[in-house]
Amino acid sequence: MSIDCLRLSVTDKCNLRCVYCHPQPDCRPTEHEDILGFEEMLRIVRLFAECGIKKLRLTGGEPLIRCDIVRLVRKLGAIAGIKDLSITTNGVFLESLATELKDAGLQRINISVDSIERKTYERITGFDLLPKVIEGIHRAIDIGLKPVKINCVIIKDLNDSEEQITALSGMSTSLPVSIRFIEYYPTNNSTRPATDYVPNAAVRAVIERKYGSLTRTVMSIGNGPAEYFKVPGSAGTIGFISGRSSNFCLSCSRLRLTSDGKVMPCLYSARSHDLKRLISSQGEKAIRDFLSEIIAEKANYTKLNSLKEEFSMCKIGG
Ligand code: SAM
Repeated sequence: MSIDCLRLSVTDKCNLRCVYCHPQPDCRPTEHEDILGFEEMLRIVRLFAECGIKKLRLTGGEPLIRCDIVRLVRKLGAIAGIKDLSITTNGVFLESLATELKDAGLQRINISVDSIERKTYERITGFDLLPKVIEGIHRAIDIGLKPVKINCVIIKDLNDSEEQITALSGMSTSLPVSIRFIEYYPTNNSTRPATDYVPNAAVRAVIERKYGSLTRTVMSIGNGPAEYFKVPGSAGTIGFISGRSSNFCLSCSRLRLTSDGKVMPCLYSARSHDLKRLISSQGEKAIRDFLSEIIAEKANYTKLNSLKEEFSMCKIGG
C-alpha cells in the first residue's frame, strides 16, 4: 500500500457540538500561536508532496470556519504533486462557500450528517441546522463536486432506529451521493460510552431488510478503507467504514496532521511527531528525510494500536 494521503486539520474549533465528538460548550480550543499558520501548512504540505503525498483532505474542527479557507484551498491546490484536494465538513456553511471553493480547486467533499430527522440532528449536534446542511448537499451536487459523500456515525439509542438508518441510506437511492456509515469510536471527548457503538453489520442488516441485498461496487476515486455497495438501480452508493469491527490497516494510506502540527501515522495510535517544532529549526532536506521515515513507518502498521488517553477527534480531524 503506498502512503499517499494526508488529512490536514486546519482548526480545532467547531461551530457544532456533536455528542460523540466535541460536546463540551467550554472545550478550550488550542491557543492561536500554537495552531499551524498558513505558511507553515503550505510548507509542510509541499514537503509531504515531495515525499509522495498526492491526496490532501482538509478537516477540523470545522474547516469552513478557518479564516480565509478559500485562499488556503487555492494555495494548497497549487502545490506541485497534489492531485486530489477534498474537504470533510459539517456542511453548515457549504451552501454559501461551495462555488468559491470549487473555483479555488476543491474537487470533492465529504459532509457529516448523522440524521435527516430535524429533532435528532439537533440532539446530536446541539443546533437546529439540518435544513442549511441539506441545502449545502444540494449545492455541492449541483456545482459538480464529485463525489459527494455523506458521513454518518450511528450511536445506540440516538440514531440507530430502523427508520433513521433507512432514511439516511435511502438518500443514496435518489441522489448521486455516497452514504457512508462510520463506526463510532469512543474518545475521552465523547459523552457516549463505548457500549453505544453499533457495528456496521447491524446497520447493513437494517438496510437490506428495507432495500434487499446490496451489490458490491467500487468508487472511481477515494475508496480508502471503506467498502462500497449499491441498492440496485439507485443513483448513489452506500459505504461502510468499519474501524472497530474489522481491521483495515492494510488498506489505510492516510497520515494525519493535527491543527497544532503533530503528524500521526495512525488515528488509533498514541504515536505522533511534532512537525511544528521541527520546521522551525530544521532545513528542507532534514525535514524531507524525517517525513520519508514517517511514511515508511506508516507502511508497516498492520494492526490498530491502543487508543491514546487524551484522544480528541475534534483536534485530530476524524
Ligand atoms: N467538522 C467536520 C465534520 O463534521 O465533518 C470535520 C471534522 S469531524 C471530526 C470529521 C469526521 O469525524 C466526521 O464525519 C465525524 O462524524 C467523525 N467523527 C468524529 N468523532 C467520531 C467518533 N468518535 N467516532 C467516529 N467518527 C467520528
